[in-house]
Amino acid sequence: MEEAYIVLDKEFKQKVHSIPKIEELRKCFGCATCSSSCPADIKPNQMAKAILLGFEKPTQNIWNCTMCILCTTRCPQDAKPHEFWGELRSFNYTLGNAPKPYYDLSKSVEEKLNPLGSAKEDKLGWLNIRERFYKRLLKTGKLEKEPKHGIFNIKNLTKEKCKTVYFIGCTTSLYARNSGIADSTLRLMMEAGEEPGIIGMEEGCCGYPLLLCGDNQTFRKIAKHNVETLEKMGVEKIVFSCAGCYRTFKKDYKNMFGELNFETFHISELLEKYFKEGVFEKPRERFKTKTTYHDPCELSRACDVIEQPRTILKYFLDSFAEMQNNKESSLCCGGGGLVKLTNSQLSSNIATTRVKQAEDIDAELILSACPSCKLTLTDGVSTLGKKIKVLDITEFVAQKIGLIPEA
Ligand code: SF4
Ligand code: SF4
Ligand code: SF4
Repeated sequence: MEEAYIVLDKEFKQKVHSIPKIEELRKCFGCATCSSSCPADIKPNQMAKAILLGFEKPTQNIWNCTMCILCTTRCPQDAKPHEFWGELRSFNYTLGNAPKPYYDLSKSVEEKLNPLGSAKEDKLGWLNIRERFYKRLLKTGKLEKEPKHGIFNIKNLTKEKCKTVYFIGCTTSLYARNSGIADSTLRLMMEAGEEPGIIGMEEGCCGYPLLLCGDNQTFRKIAKHNVETLEKMGVEKIVFSCAGCYRTFKKDYKNMFGELNFETFHISELLEKYFKEGVFEKPRERFKTKTTYHDPCELSRACDVIEQPRTILKYFLDSFAEMQNNKESSLCCGGGGLVKLTNSQLSSNIATTRVKQAEDIDAELILSACPSCKLTLTDGVSTLGKKIKVLDITEFVAQKIGLIPEA
């Protein structure tokens, strides 16, 4: 009966109706298709109606939205509610009505160039982790010799001028569990004959978490920092293994700065190209591990990179299977929208729902193409106490073509 106390606020109504994307909500004819698909169960159709009427309280539900875009994909009216949700976050953030962790995150990006409050030097920590990993394997005899392309260090990866840059992203460089993604991505690019460099300590957060907070001002600053740094390096091509960073450069930087001087690729697009053009040989041996693929929302629904990862995986796998929700109808892993910051239980519930979908098809391995998805799904597997393995597509391919050990 809580709704009985929700009051219509005329001033709020006037303000919220001045948000440009309110037009997206006006297209809504209330069919509730979005609500039946929403992984966060925030009932977007009811929220849209309440906002149009001028009720303020339901708008606080916006912080539970994973920004997964599914409501927009499913809408038969071609409304784009998720675009309005983004602006609503910004509206709340500017008024000081966002949850406190969002302001802390913004401050961290502004001061330390990353959303986790880590020191700038920590961005290079993954190199030490991988070095220790290889040295341990060499010492114990599990690896006979150094991996092809050597053991990386900051000197052999950073260059003042560089045409091809691998933009690592905070979720890869600052989480030990994702160090293999950075290592694998670079090795795959080198194996294909590219000469990738990295930015190093000055690599800023792509800014996507700031857009999710609704802090457009700090987003503009960090985006400018990144673009200027890349331009100074003379970069022509940027490669991403993070779906969120890729989407931000491809869509949001473009919206902000217009056409940029560099091309952007997600590594799964390049891998498909390497195999199709014969740069990489198609594998002779196919593997029987029952495997499925989780589409990162930012890669599939936001950027339409859907078939490329599947094409690559089908070269390797005899037993590839789709989960119930797949491709453009994929279910968020629970890691989106910064929901973990304020409602970790909800994030965990969504993650376990997704893992159960993998379990339903007897998958032994879940692959994805986003470090954030890998973290969230791995946590989902351990919450359920299951034995399903979770890997990034870069790690999987690098293992299968012998660039990194399967340890
Ligand atoms: S799916 Fe579209 S039209 Fe239907 S309730 Fe949701 S926003 Fe409205
Ligand atoms: S973006 Fe995703 S989580 Fe948010 S309202 Fe739409 S379907 Fe629900
Ligand atoms: S973490 Fe991955 S699946 Fe989850 S919302 Fe982000 S891109 Fe989507």
